Amino acid sequence: MRVLDDRFYHATITARSEFAPDLWMLRVRAGGEFNFIPGQFATLGLESDGKRIERPYSIASAPFENEIEFFVELVPEGALTPRLYALQPGDKLLMRKVAKGKFTLDTESGRKHHLLICTVTGVAPFVSFVRALSKDWKEGRFDGSHKLYLLNGASRPWEFGYKDELTRAAAELPWFTYVPTVSRPWDHSEWDGEIGRADDVLRKYADHWELDAGNTTAYLCGHPDMIANGKAILKRRGFIERTAVKEETYWIAPR
Ligand SMILES: Cc1cc2nc3c(=O)[nH]c(=O)nc-3n(C[C@H](O)[C@H](O)[C@H](O)COP(=O)(O)OP(=O)(O)OC[C@H]3O[C@@H](n4cnc5c(N)ncnc54)[C@H](O)[C@@H]3O)c2cc1C
Repeated sequence: MRVLDDRFYHATITARSEFAPDLWMLRVRAGGEFNFIPGQFATLGLESDGKRIERPYSIASAPFENEIEFFVELVPEGALTPRLYALQPGDKLLMRKVAKGKFTLDTESGRKHHLLICTVTGVAPFVSFVRALSKDWKEGRFDGSHKLYLLNGASRPWEFGYKDELTRAAAELPWFTYVPTVSRPWDHSEWDGEIGRADDVLRKYADHWELDAGNTTAYLCGHPDMIANGKAILKRRGFIERTAVKEETYWIAPR
């Protein structure tokens, strides 16, 4: 890797594991100080034919961890992900030294409920929220007064990635509720959880959990269509204040 630029770390991959043929977890050691707030993204890159290709990736790890974790989907025709996918532990990649993004937990608005809605890799920032708050809760820095409700959508059960970790967290943490939902349950007779896209079940769960615009901030992350549909549903429920809905759209939907 030839980039000599002090805006970048030459980060080292320390671990990778595959959840599905096109979904994998990647952990990296930055090689220097890297500060972030849960919900922010890092910019990863590689040099190819003398050109730098960079893309943003939400951070799944919490700031207290000594490595930075990502949950990535392979886009077969994409410029970066096929190259990222080929990397193994010990390999290097470029990582900008500064994390960015405003998709962070809003604890200032007075709304104590947080409705988190995502598709597949869009769960990453929410994993960071839960890991960070869980440690704070166990060490007495968080009193549990903010409640997190996570609707995690995927087409098929193997796409969740973090389902086991989040299910365990929900069983342990009184302030965290987790619902994974599968939109293509056929072929998966073993799936006994919720069925439907995350935006399809959003209204039902918002009612069930008594979440409204007065007490809740909503966060939508991942697939652009889910975000557009989810925002329309939330708007009809009165989520009209600009700060009541936060979004992180991972790509632009083709028109
Ligand atoms: C703030 C932010 C955070 C992000 N966090 C993550 C993350 O945590 N994990 C992750 O996997 N991606 C994440 N993304 C998407 C990521 O930045 C890249 O766009 C993605 O990895 C594809 O890169 P690529 O170079 O391989 O494809 P590109 O060459 O950039 O894209 C090729 C085509 O595929 C479309 N596309 C891009 N991503 C997808 C997708 N997932 N499914 C279908 N079509 C797609 C693009 O719109 C484009 O038309 C994030 C994006 C943003 C803006």
